[in-house]
Amino acid sequence: MLDAAYYADLGLSSIHEKVLDGRRLSFDDGLALFDCPDITAVGALALHARCRLHGRKAFYVVNRQINYTNVCVNGCVFCAFRRDAANEPGAFVLSREDILARLKNADQSSLRLDELHIVGGCHPGLRLEWFEDVLRAVRAVNPTLPIKAFTPVEIEHFARLEGISSLEVLQRLKAAGLTMLPGGGAEIFDEELRPQLCPHKADAAAWLRISGEAHGLGIKTNCTMLFGHLENAAQRVDHLCRLRDQQDKSGGFTCFIPLPFLTENSRLKLPDERLGPQRGLDQLRTVAVSRLLLDNIPHIKAYWIMLGPKLAQTALWYGADDLDGTIVEEHIGHMAGAQSSQGLTINELESMISESGFEPVRRNAIFETLPPDGRNSAEVR
Ligand code: SF4
Repeated sequence: MLDAAYYADLGLSSIHEKVLDGRRLSFDDGLALFDCPDITAVGALALHARCRLHGRKAFYVVNRQINYTNVCVNGCVFCAFRRDAANEPGAFVLSREDILARLKNADQSSLRLDELHIVGGCHPGLRLEWFEDVLRAVRAVNPTLPIKAFTPVEIEHFARLEGISSLEVLQRLKAAGLTMLPGGGAEIFDEELRPQLCPHKADAAAWLRISGEAHGLGIKTNCTMLFGHLENAAQRVDHLCRLRDQQDKSGGFTCFIPLPFLTENSRLKLPDERLGPQRGLDQLRTVAVSRLLLDNIPHIKAYWIMLGPKLAQTALWYGADDLDGTIVEEHIGHMAGAQSSQGLTINELESMISESGFEPVRRNAIFETLPPDGRNSAEVR
C-alpha cells in the first residue's frame, strides 16, 4: 500500500516521501490529502505515522463524564445541548451533591476510575467559587483521581463573570484540584465562519491563548475540531495548522479529537449534499489527515460517542490510537442525535480494540499507561 509508484500516480509523491521520512507536511499537502480520490491511500499513510508513534497499541480510559448543566449564555447555532434558562424544558443544573453522588456511584460499580471528566454550558449564575468548591469536594473524596474539566470556552466565561484574567481562573482551579482541560469549544477557527456558528463564544485567539496559558501552568489539555458543517477543506487544514503552531509554542496538547457535526437535533440545517452515508468516509479521511498534519500532538482520538463504535474501530486503521472511555453518562452528543450507547464496559472497549487488530492499553487522563486491572490507578473511595 505504501508503494511509491502508486502515490506518484495519485500525485502524492512528495507527501509519500515526507511521511516515510517523518518530515512535516505543509498546508498545501493537507489540501491535497483532502482532495485525493483514494481514501485508503490517505489512510495507509496515516496508519504508517500512527504505528511509528504507538505501534499496534490502542488506548482507552476508565472514565466517568459529568455534564453539570446545559444552561448556557452562548447561542451556538449547531448546539442541541444548550438551554436558554433553567426553567426551560430539558434544562438541568446539577448540585455539588449530585456530582459527588455520580462519582460515588461509579465507585460502587467497581470501575476504579482513572479520569473524571466534567464539562458543561456557560451558566450565567454559577460562580468560580462554586467550581472551586466542587473540585475540592471531589479531591476530598479522592485526592489522586485525575480531574479533566472545563474547556477554554468555560474558562473564558468564568473570567468574564468574575472580571479577572483567564490565567487567574486557571491558577485558582489548579489550586483547587484541576488536573487537565478537555479540548472542546475549538469548533472551527476560521474568522469568517466562526461568528456564523458561535458568535458569542471565545474566539480562536482566546481559545488558543487559554490553552497556552494552561500549558504554561503545567496543565495538559486536549484539542478538538468540529467538522462536517459549513466549513471547507481549507478551513479544516487552517484549523489543524493553527493547533500545530500553538503546540510548537506551548507543547501541552496531549490528544486531538476530530468531532463530526451531528445534524439530527441541531438548528443548523445542512444542504443534502453534505448529508448521507458518505459522511462516514469523510470522517475517516479527517482522522487520517489530522494524524498526518499534527506531527507534534501525540494522540488522535476516535471518540466512539460521536463516531459510533463501528466507525471508531475502523478509524484505528486511519490514524487514530485512542477510543476514549467508559463514559457512563453523556448528554452533549446524545442530545445532538448520537446513536451510540451511554457507556461501554472495559470488556467492550478491549474487545473493540483487539477485534480490530490492535493491542488494548489502559491509560489515565494524561495518557500514562496502566496495567489492565488499573491497580495503579486512583481508586474512588
Ligand atoms: S456549544 Fe457549548 S458554548 Fe455553545 S451553546 Fe452549546 S453548551 Fe453553550
